[in-house]
Amino acid sequence: MQAKQNDIGLVWFRNDLRVNDNSVLSEAIKNHKSVIACYCFDPRHYEITTYGFKKTEKYRAQFLIETIEDLKINLNAIHVELLVYHEVPEQILPALVKQHHIKSIYLQKEWTSEETQVLKNVKFTLPKFLQFHERYDQFLYHPNDIDLRFDEISNVFTVFRKKVEKYGNVRVSEDLQTLEKIKHFNNDTQIPTLKDLGLTSFEVDPNSAFPFKGGEKSALHRLNNYLFATKNIEFYKKTRNGLIGIDYSSKFSPWLANGSISARTIYWNIKKFEENHIKNESTYWLIFELIWRDYFKYVSLKYQNDIFKIGGILRKDYDWNSNAHNIQKWINGETESSFVNANMREIKKTGWMSNRGRQNVASFFAKELLQDWRIGAAYFESMLIDYDVHSNYGNWMYVAGVGNDPRDRKFNVRLQAERYDSQGQFQQMWLQETLF
Ligand SMILES: Cc1cc2nc3c(=O)[nH]c(=O)nc-3n(C[C@H](O)[C@H](O)[C@H](O)COP(=O)(O)OP(=O)(O)OC[C@H]3O[C@@H](n4cnc5c(N)ncnc54)[C@H](O)[C@@H]3O)c2cc1C
Repeated sequence: MQAKQNDIGLVWFRNDLRVNDNSVLSEAIKNHKSVIACYCFDPRHYEITTYGFKKTEKYRAQFLIETIEDLKINLNAIHVELLVYHEVPEQILPALVKQHHIKSIYLQKEWTSEETQVLKNVKFTLPKFLQFHERYDQFLYHPNDIDLRFDEISNVFTVFRKKVEKYGNVRVSEDLQTLEKIKHFNNDTQIPTLKDLGLTSFEVDPNSAFPFKGGEKSALHRLNNYLFATKNIEFYKKTRNGLIGIDYSSKFSPWLANGSISARTIYWNIKKFEENHIKNESTYWLIFELIWRDYFKYVSLKYQNDIFKIGGILRKDYDWNSNAHNIQKWINGETESSFVNANMREIKKTGWMSNRGRQNVASFFAKELLQDWRIGAAYFESMLIDYDVHSNYGNWMYVAGVGNDPRDRKFNVRLQAERYDSQGQFQQMWLQETLF
């Protein structure tokens, strides 16, 4: 084992908000006798963006606050102090580096434009000797383990999936080494409230399909519950297109999105379930969906900023509209389709929508109303508890016909409602509620 450095290591948390199976954190702990950590609630994430929506609405913000509260407790247990700010990292990191004589910063590697720009700004403010240890840690199949260059990633999911299933391997987490507690460390930083972030407090809707709390503890509890306690995973393939309740699908996405659980942890627990209980189509299908999640990350690594452009990765030159009236009707759930309306009311009232719902409302927006798909994607970015840049823009491109679907399909929302909500229960549930 290599000797630990005496200087304090700094972990800059962003979308990797967990202690378990966090290779960024474990590397810092391996290298230093003491480690501190920071998280910035970046005020830019709570501002109104190009299309008039707040970048982060109250549902995801509340989930994030709960996540940070939990992270602070979990880090404390391993002697890592978490400093939390409501300020841009460009201000905070130079101050921390100076105050604690930091020489090494550890962080998860991101590649989308906003994240890379912030990192560039931060680096610009810091002395040149500072070492940045950046690692990819958000994948099921790590980029170094898949034997593919990013420009070789296929535009067809099945080709990618078969390749990673055949040649890839899923890493096993390392145990965390122990750390010395820093004596007399004064941490008087505070986690902001919703109000501090310019958002209003709310009660969780009793019909919410995602009534769970943020944080690693809650993620692990849900994992245990969905797999081992209820064994719901055994029927996942049959139930996954459901619309009502907490158990039709795993609901892992919000925790995965901010990194409070890793895809690898879910994978290895499914393997354990398969060994101890049953291995069937459903247990495989949950892993299959986690590969979709990886795939959209690889697509964005390959195409970079094209995922945010109107022509998408296919550079399609379609005519798109931007009609404020039609967009508002879609948002309010006041279109001619009651199935679309029920789903749109659900997201507005809860920050959640099922995968089936998302496909239908996105298709309706892009292919019926012919509105610029990026506006729909920006609304989802604002509202979703589980917003993830790669999955959101990847799926929107796919449905809008500018992404990875070679068939360029349009959903028939009437037939979809008949098939997936044949008794109209879901529509009734959301349409009878008052909207505001
Ligand atoms: C227009 C549109 C926008 C979307 N935006 C997001 C987003 O911002 N964040 C997000 O996590 N997912 C997004 N999805 C994908 C999918 O709808 C959600 O991941 C899923 O509904 C989450 O519920 P679950 O965790 O119960 O999923 P499960 O069905 O239990 O699946 C397990 C996990 O597999 C992954 N997964 C499943 N389906 C997909 C998919 N189509 N694409 C990528 N990963 C998938 C997720 O990580 C999910 O948690 C979007 C889909 C569409 C059609």
